[in-house]
Amino acid sequence: MPTTIQIKPDFSWSAIDTILLDMDGTLLDKYFDDFFWEEYVPKIFGEQNRMTPEQARKELLKRYQAVESTLQWTDLDYWSEQLGLDIPELKCKVDHLIQVHPFVLDFLQFIRKIGKKIHLVTNAHSKTLEIKLRKTALGEWFDRNVCAEEVGEAKEHPAFWDRLEGILHYDRKRTLLADDTAKVLRSAREYEMGFLIFVARPSSRLPVRYSHEFPSIVTFDELIF
Ligand SMILES: [Mg+2]
Repeated sequence: MPTTIQIKPDFSWSAIDTILLDMDGTLLDKYFDDFFWEEYVPKIFGEQNRMTPEQARKELLKRYQAVESTLQWTDLDYWSEQLGLDIPELKCKVDHLIQVHPFVLDFLQFIRKIGKKIHLVTNAHSKTLEIKLRKTALGEWFDRNVCAEEVGEAKEHPAFWDRLEGILHYDRKRTLLADDTAKVLRSAREYEMGFLIFVARPSSRLPVRYSHEFPSIVTFDELIF
């Protein structure tokens, strides 16, 4: 399927009451996470276990894949224990790489002005959320921040959205979700969420890849209308 053709968002804000926003890759540059897990952690893990960075990287990618799309993947305590490293401390050491995507603040300001509810809904661990919100000062914009660990399920599973509705009490037909993970949007589609937006450039260092299933944006100014 080609990923160079954009399905443009086409809806009216008057049809929407609630906006759910993912964090990593959607509001924040995913370069931080890619660098952290694929380069920085393998380097430190390799140093401690007498492996080359390349050997360490291969070993770690295998372990990451084994828990993909589960809550373990985002659980910093799990990884601290598994790898014998202080993962939150390592994240703080490279926190200068945590960056907000262009036009995110303009979008949040716009949404506030038109009077909608905004919630941050993330698979990220509460410790990761704390580090990132401290670093970016984004927290003040949201009515609620919900981590998947509070819901007890990762966003990739349709049950997540039923449980989230129980926490946030939104009307699913009048709710918009923006996320950079197609699998998450598919699970929300299965749950029949009203509006779905794919973020097509999660990392500033990687090319744009539009979704062929969902309306896509590269930056949030495309939703200011
Ligand atoms: Mg994401």
